[in-house]
Amino acid sequence: MAKLTQKQVFEKLQAKGARAVCEVCGQNKWTVPDLDGAAGIVALSMQTTVSSGSVILGGESIPAVMNVCTNCGNVRFHAVGIIAPEVMRDV
Ligand SMILES: [Zn+2]
Repeated sequence: MAKLTQKQVFEKLQAKGARAVCEVCGQNKWTVPDLDGAAGIVALSMQTTVSSGSVILGGESIPAVMNVCTNCGNVRFHAVGIIAPEVMRDV
């Protein structure tokens, strides 16, 4: 199963022309939270309605990697299917 390293995430974002500076603080001090050296992939949950203010866990989601600004704590999400579709296909 394909995994992404922090270096690969930054290379892929650079190849897409993503801005390197943090939109909040203007610094370029990013890290990619990882698990045992591979970029951690989070699931951004999606649903079309909210019942009694509750979110359904385990439903549809967008797999994403995070960039965390080590200066101000801003967190950016990048959809894995866009920046690294090969990871999505290798399941
Ligand atoms: Zn920042």
